[in-house]
Amino acid sequence: MSYRTQFSFFKQAHCAVYLDSAATTQKLDAVSQRVDDFSRLKNASVHRGGYALATQATTEFEDARSEIAQFIHANSSDEVVFTSGATESVNMIAQGLHPNMLRGNTILLSESEHHANILPWQALAKRLNLVIKVLPLEVNGVFSKSTLQSWLNAFTDDVAIFACAHVSNVLGNIYPIQTLCEHATTMRAISVIDGTQALAHLPVDVQSLGCDFYVFSGHKMYAPTGIGICWGKRHLLEALDPSKLGGEMVTNVSFTDYSTQPPPLKFEAGTPNISGALGLQEACRFLNRNFKGIQSHEHELYQYMLNELAKFPELTILGNQQSSIGLLSFCCATKDNHSIAMQLYSQGIALRFGQHCAMPLFNALGIDACLRISIGCYNDYNDINRFIEALQNALRQTHLTDIEQVALSNHTRQTNKEHKLTSDYHWEVNIKHAKNWSEKHRQLLLLSKALPLLEPSNRVPSNAVQGCEANVWLHKAEHSGELRSYSDSKVIRGILAVLLLKHNHLLESQSKQHAARFDYLEYLNSLGLSDYFSTGRKDGVRSVVMKMRVLYDPS
Ligand code: PMP
Repeated sequence: MSYRTQFSFFKQAHCAVYLDSAATTQKLDAVSQRVDDFSRLKNASVHRGGYALATQATTEFEDARSEIAQFIHANSSDEVVFTSGATESVNMIAQGLHPNMLRGNTILLSESEHHANILPWQALAKRLNLVIKVLPLEVNGVFSKSTLQSWLNAFTDDVAIFACAHVSNVLGNIYPIQTLCEHATTMRAISVIDGTQALAHLPVDVQSLGCDFYVFSGHKMYAPTGIGICWGKRHLLEALDPSKLGGEMVTNVSFTDYSTQPPPLKFEAGTPNISGALGLQEACRFLNRNFKGIQSHEHELYQYMLNELAKFPELTILGNQQSSIGLLSFCCATKDNHSIAMQLYSQGIALRFGQHCAMPLFNALGIDACLRISIGCYNDYNDINRFIEALQNALRQTHLTDIEQVALSNHTRQTNKEHKLTSDYHWEVNIKHAKNWSEKHRQLLLLSKALPLLEPSNRVPSNAVQGCEANVWLHKAEHSGELRSYSDSKVIRGILAVLLLKHNHLLESQSKQHAARFDYLEYLNSLGLSDYFSTGRKDGVRSVVMKMRVLYDPS
C-alpha cells in the first residue's frame, strides 16, 4: 500500500507539493484517529483517579511508553520521559545537570546544531562556568573521514558533555553517533544525542548507539505536535534534578519540602499530553511496520532529486550528498536565494528557506541562508518533478534581462551620484502595472539596487528589525538624517527602496510629520504587492514600517 494514502492531507484537491517534512511531517490518519478516539471517547487523567476510565487511561498511557521504549530499544520504559518535544527534552537535561554529574569543563557541540541543542548548553555553561567548544565541519558543511578524526581528537579528559544531532536538520548529514559516543564514554563525558531528524527515517537503537541521552519530537515522525521523548540511562535520570516541579512527580510534600518519584514520573510534573503520547505510539507502530520500505522509497527519491539538482550548475548543495535521509539543502551563488524561495512558494511548493534555526552554522559556512527540501514517506516522483519544474521557472525568473541590466545600471549610477533615492524613475507606475508576482518581483529587484545601503559596521543588533523572514537593518545617520538600510534579501531591499522612495517623495510635497505618519502598508497594498506577501513577510514589512516611523518621527 502506498504510504501517501494513509495521510488525508494529500487527499485535498489542490494540495501543495509538501517538501517540508523536516519542519513537521503530515499526520498519519491512524495517529489522528487514535488522538481523536481518546479525546472524544476515553478521556480521563492518568496516574490519579481510581475509577475504571482513569485506570484505563493510565494503562493506555503506560503501554504507549513501553511501546515507544521498545521502538528505540531502550532497556526499560522507566528510561522514557514524555516531554513536549526535543526542545523541552534538551532543556530538561541541561537544567537538571549539576556539578557532581560532570567530570570536565568543556561542552562539545557540533557546528551544525539546531538552536534547541545550543542555547540550553549556553545556559548551563553560564550556570556552571563551563566552556563551549565547537566541532567544525568542512566547506559547505561536509563531514568527512578527516572531520571525524578531528572531532575524535577533541575528546580530551576535560570534556564534560558531548551534544550532537544524529542527523543535521540543515545538512542531512548522518553523524557516526556510535563511534562518537564510544569516545565520549571513554572520556566519561555525558553524550546527548538529538534524534529529532532521525526517527522518521532510520531505525534507532539507543543501546547500541551507546549514548547517555537521546531526544526527539513526535511531530517530525507523523505524530502530533506537543509530544516528545527524553530517553536517558536510568542512573543518569536518577541523578538528574527535575527542572519542572508540581503535581504527580512527588511522593511526599510538606510546605517546606518534597521527595520525588523515581524516573520517569519525576520529570513529568503536571498533566501530560496523554492523547499525544498515544498518537506517538501509533506513529512508532507505523514506522516499525514499514521501516524497510520507507527507507528504500526515500532513498530512491533522494537519489532522483540529487541527480535532478545536479543539472543546475549554479546551485551548491550543502552537506554530505550520500546522506540517505531525504533532506537536501542548496543555495545559488549567482541569484537571490530569497527570491528563488518566493518564486517556489508562489508555485505551490512548500519548502523551507532561511537559516533553519542553525544560525551559527550559517555564520561558519559564510552564507546567509539556504533552501531546504525534505521528504517524507508520502512524497512521490510527481512531487519531485513538480518541484524541479518550479525551480527551473524560479531560476529563469530571477534572471534579469540585458535590457533591464542596462536600465538598472543607469539608474544605479544616477542614484549613487546623488546619494539619495530620486523619483524620476517610474518605479511606482512600473510596480503598479506589473501584472503578476514575477513582473512585480523584477521591478523590486531593479529598485533594490537603488537603496542607500547601510554599511556593514552598522548592521548591528540595535539597528536590526525584528520579525522579518530575512535579516533587515535600518539606521538613521545622526548628522544628515538620511535613512540607510540593508537586507540580505534583494526582494526586501526592493521593498525597502519602495518605502524610502515614497517617504522622500512625500517629504518633497508635504510636511515631515505627514511623511512619517503616512500609511505605508496601505500604500504597498495599492501597488498590488501585499497580496504576494506571506504572513511572515507581512509581519516583517509591518516591523520595518514601524521602525521607519520611529526613526523619522520619534515624537
Ligand atoms: N533539533 C533538530 C535537529 C530539529 O530539526 C528541531 C526542529 N526543527 C529541533 C531540535 C526542535 O524540535 P521541536 O521544535 O519539536 O522541539
